[in-house]
Amino acid sequence: MTSPNHIDVLIVGAGPTGLVLACELARRNVAFRLIDALPQPSVASRGKGTQPRSLEVLDDLGVVDQVLAGGRFHLPLRFYDANGGRKDQDIHEGHQPRPDAPYGSTLLIPQWRIEGILRERLAELGGRVDYATTLEDLTQGETSVTATLSHEGATETVRASWLVACDGGRSTTRRKLGIAFLGETLETHRMFVGDVKVSGVDREFWHAWRTEDGFVGLAPLPGTDMYQFQAFIHPDAPTEPSLAVFQQIIDVRSGRSDIRLSDPTWMSFWRANVRMVDRYRVGRALVAGDAAHVHSPAGGQGMNTGIQDAYNLGWKLAAVINGANSALLDTYEEERLPVAASVLGLSNALLAQAATTRHLVAPRGTETLQLGIHYRNSGLAQDHRPAPGNVRAGDRAPDAPSLRDGDREYRMFDLFRGPHFTLLAFGAGWDRVIAEIEAQFGGLLKRFVIEPTQGLHDTAGYAVQGYDIHADTLLIVRPDGYIGFAANEKAAGPAISYMKAFVASH
Ligand SMILES: Cc1cc2nc3c(=O)[nH]c(=O)nc-3n(C[C@H](O)[C@H](O)[C@H](O)COP(=O)(O)OP(=O)(O)OC[C@H]3O[C@@H](n4cnc5c(N)ncnc54)[C@H](O)[C@@H]3O)c2cc1C
Repeated sequence: MTSPNHIDVLIVGAGPTGLVLACELARRNVAFRLIDALPQPSVASRGKGTQPRSLEVLDDLGVVDQVLAGGRFHLPLRFYDANGGRKDQDIHEGHQPRPDAPYGSTLLIPQWRIEGILRERLAELGGRVDYATTLEDLTQGETSVTATLSHEGATETVRASWLVACDGGRSTTRRKLGIAFLGETLETHRMFVGDVKVSGVDREFWHAWRTEDGFVGLAPLPGTDMYQFQAFIHPDAPTEPSLAVFQQIIDVRSGRSDIRLSDPTWMSFWRANVRMVDRYRVGRALVAGDAAHVHSPAGGQGMNTGIQDAYNLGWKLAAVINGANSALLDTYEEERLPVAASVLGLSNALLAQAATTRHLVAPRGTETLQLGIHYRNSGLAQDHRPAPGNVRAGDRAPDAPSLRDGDREYRMFDLFRGPHFTLLAFGAGWDRVIAEIEAQFGGLLKRFVIEPTQGLHDTAGYAVQGYDIHADTLLIVRPDGYIGFAANEKAAGPAISYMKAFVASH
């Protein structure tokens, strides 16, 4: 039931996590409200590394072209040493697009631009952010959450069937829910970060100095005339950021007097908090993004992990609102909590490496790209094949170009784009099985046969190769681009049973 004061979902926080969740709900016609305490959108560059898996999410949301136009791949790092020597390095060397993964490397783009593109998409889908609106308190009942909001001195009560806390590392909502934020604050790892104009260096490199005092870097932010300033600072150093302090750090650590900083738009002090929740759901409230896990910026994982939390949760929440059993929401924690734990481990390892080598930026392995994240151990992964290949239920569904239908050509991701499940039948003779599945779930599914005479012709074999197909195979790809179900047998029953978890029981 919805009314002005009773909505399906209240989303607290309109950072990247809240915005992706809002887009996911908006394109499924769920009635939600998205609030943010800030008076207006943030201008901070913060998470400036968008990983390939997040680019795939943004592709599915229909905004990847704008994102790619506003960013840059493979910006080389230029390291300066104390003797004036320099060494250039691409920390993402070797990370290139492949047929199964069209976005091969980390895209450098300021976080505020990603947020702006998501806000525009949300507006196209009919949604908006209510700024200057703060969640102050909440209580839970059997069927709803009641939230007290403040807005310019006035208070308002909102009832929602579900509430999602996307309100960042200091989440009020998490505290009100009584969810512990386990971990530690590393007082020895502190940084100044900010966005400034810079003269004296060019924009073709990410400039970095490594000295006894610590690392300092200037990363040109694509599509702007600004740089992100980053400097490790000593545990005893003052923590109040200012242009004068940033300038002094650059002067001392670069040993140069020609680099001048000006016009700051954002300056902040950061210390390493490495923490995560031990549960993602309390009754009718869920946590996502930094509200659920925070760690070091080393490796560029935070925003990306939040985007994918929201992407995992959005379609499940919409299914439950449309009548599916709410146990479906427990798979959100089941799938995403282990990811957060491993991201914390990865970013800790990278932070430890940064502390030892005094580099915040160092060559990155493929694990930072987040393409290998899988949900094989999830209750939603069903592989019925007697001999599954290397790509199994629970794995990310790979892309595959050169799928031809007459004179039109598609990529696999073209077939996935949108809020639907995708039924992929490799081989011939699936007509009856597909018809039976469609009879029950036609509204939820799009279906494609990969077979030269009856469907899409896999002209270069990328689909068969990318999905490691060795026999006729039926796959169900979830709306968030993971393979949920796989079978060889030409029977509709198992697929129908699988799909029942996502619809109202009759
Ligand atoms: C220097 C730095 C570099 C980084 N680099 C990277 C990187 O390269 N890649 C990467 O992936 N991540 C990076 N990160 C991390 C990234 O910025 C965060 O992980 C990301 O912002 C988390 O998004 P979020 O939407 O979960 O939370 P946030 O962006 O923190 O958004 C939370 C929102 O909730 C609002 N809010 C808070 N309380 C309330 C309330 N009570 N009521 C209403 N609204 C509220 C806030 O105003 C805010 O807008 C970096 C961070 C820093 C500081």
